[in-house]
Amino acid sequence: MMNDKTGDQKPGILAHTVDNIMTRRKMPVSVFIVLMVLYIVTNMVVSRVAGSQGVIRISDSVIPLQTFAGVFSSMANICVIFMAVYFGKPGFFAALALILINMPGVIMGVVVRHNFNSLPGVFTNILTIITIIIIFINNERLNRTQDRIREQAVTDMLTGLPNRFACLELVKELERRKETYAFVGINLNGFKSINDTMGFTAGNEVLKEVASRWKHLAESGETRTLDFIARMGGDEFVLLVRKFQDEEDIVRTIRKYEKALGERLTIDGCDFFISASFGFSIFPTDTADREALYSYADAAMHEAKRANSSDHIRRFTRDMLKEDHILEVEGKIRTALQNDTFFFHLQPQYDMDHRLRGFEALARMRDENGNIVSPGEFIPVAEKVGLIDQVDSAIFRKSAAFFGDLLKISKADITLSINASVRHLMKNDFLDEVRDLLKNSGIPAEQLEIEITESIMIESMEKALYCINEIKKMGVKIAIDDFGTGYSSLSYLNNFPANLLKIDKSFIDKMNSSDSSKQYVASIISIGHIMGFDVISEGVEEPDQLETLRAAGCDYIQGYIWGRPLPQEEAEKIVLEFAGE
Ligand code: C2E
Ligand code: CA
Ligand code: CA
Repeated sequence: MMNDKTGDQKPGILAHTVDNIMTRRKMPVSVFIVLMVLYIVTNMVVSRVAGSQGVIRISDSVIPLQTFAGVFSSMANICVIFMAVYFGKPGFFAALALILINMPGVIMGVVVRHNFNSLPGVFTNILTIITIIIIFINNERLNRTQDRIREQAVTDMLTGLPNRFACLELVKELERRKETYAFVGINLNGFKSINDTMGFTAGNEVLKEVASRWKHLAESGETRTLDFIARMGGDEFVLLVRKFQDEEDIVRTIRKYEKALGERLTIDGCDFFISASFGFSIFPTDTADREALYSYADAAMHEAKRANSSDHIRRFTRDMLKEDHILEVEGKIRTALQNDTFFFHLQPQYDMDHRLRGFEALARMRDENGNIVSPGEFIPVAEKVGLIDQVDSAIFRKSAAFFGDLLKISKADITLSINASVRHLMKNDFLDEVRDLLKNSGIPAEQLEIEITESIMIESMEKALYCINEIKKMGVKIAIDDFGTGYSSLSYLNNFPANLLKIDKSFIDKMNSSDSSKQYVASIISIGHIMGFDVISEGVEEPDQLETLRAAGCDYIQGYIWGRPLPQEEAEKIVLEFAGE
């Protein structure tokens, strides 16, 4: 599969890859040499003792030296057997050569010198030769099987191209060598409709034909870059382009692959014209991170697909990432909404004496792999793509049901705060939704609080004000979230029918860094009080922040210092403990 025309890649990088995957344990050459030397030495000892008349005396026993000939000859044979077992072909031939060189001497001993002590040696040598031949044949068979397994591990069964695994190994290898390459993500256009209309068998034939054309091209060296083409699965392929001069070179190479598709493809008597979308990203120019490189190429490929123009090739650029990222997160949100898997955590709020005031429900979601996606990531996307009201509603419904039950068993006088996006608030049925929420959950209206971000309200003040007043009439409380970050005007605050002001974490963070910051927070608290609001500080983490806020007369605290957002069981525990006090 590798276009290895430069001849400077011995052994070919794919072979290297394969070896990496199926490492054969090799004995060091030194062992080979030791075995050879041992064989020669023991054989010399054998010939010495075989013809010797000497004896060894051990206490009362007299042992003729000749007896040891058998012992040493067995040792010598074990050496060659080891060579045949552990050193494959070279081991086998070396072992065979050693025995054959040694044989005439042994035979001569018997025939010419009539030294019949050597007779067992002749037979042992013959048996050893048979043994190493059996070992050799067996080893060869094993190697063939292993080769087949190695091959299968890195080959895509349908098309015969290297598979995802092989591609990953090569990418790792290039990364190790710090070699520049372009990662080209390829997706066939309209492949799904071929599958849908013609069936899987025809679809597979198309894939095989495409793969064969590309494989041929990669091997031909025609592109004048060093190419590696792999199938990742489905109609997804990857091309790795190496040894290019500049970006033009990469595009030129990709165009060749595109052109290879251009010719008509006839399957089952039907003609197809297949095209593909190509997106590429360059290592390490764009990123040295393998995963990122892959997603960059993917983003570029999707961009090429979306653009639906005659040019099917795109080079990755940063702005694609944003678009693509939004689409990706949007997909996750839709799936979570469909499967109703949004859930919530509850972050406790306390008064300054550390008595529980209530909890803020914070949306949580997992992607299809079970990884938590941060609300900082999915809430803005949900707002942008118009799904925020559905997300809000899911959290409303779930957290209120839980909280209603909790109030029933604990009788605690605590508040549930929920976040409403302004988009959600502006919906005509928002008021009905809140009414239903109260009714279904059984939460008393005064124990429910809706948090609205200050900044957004300004944009449609009138309608927002109407809604908020209606909510207040129901008895539900209103909190102004992230206070200080938006367009805060006193006159606006004055008109605002809120109960609680939430000072944004950013002010709390820098509060103790200068006197003026401290004074600023203190004045927000005083003004809030003058306007008749309670004030809560968000994101309190440090004891000195707590002390400053206490001195400034802040009413409530929400922050890691006293409690992180918790799963519902843990929140329940806190409530039951608090109710039991
Ligand atoms: P937020 O409403 O200002 O919520 C407070 C955020 O600050 C939470 O982040 C909370 O975990 C975090 N936080 C609280 N105390 C500390 C602290 O001491 N240190 C630090 N470092 N962080 C603290 P989270 O849960 O990531 O939520 C982020 C934002 O997502 C929320 O900010 C809110 O604007 C939005 N959000 C969360 N759930 C919902 C929802 O159900 N609906 C809507 N519309 N927005 C939501
Ligand atoms: Ca909030
Ligand atoms: Ca906030």
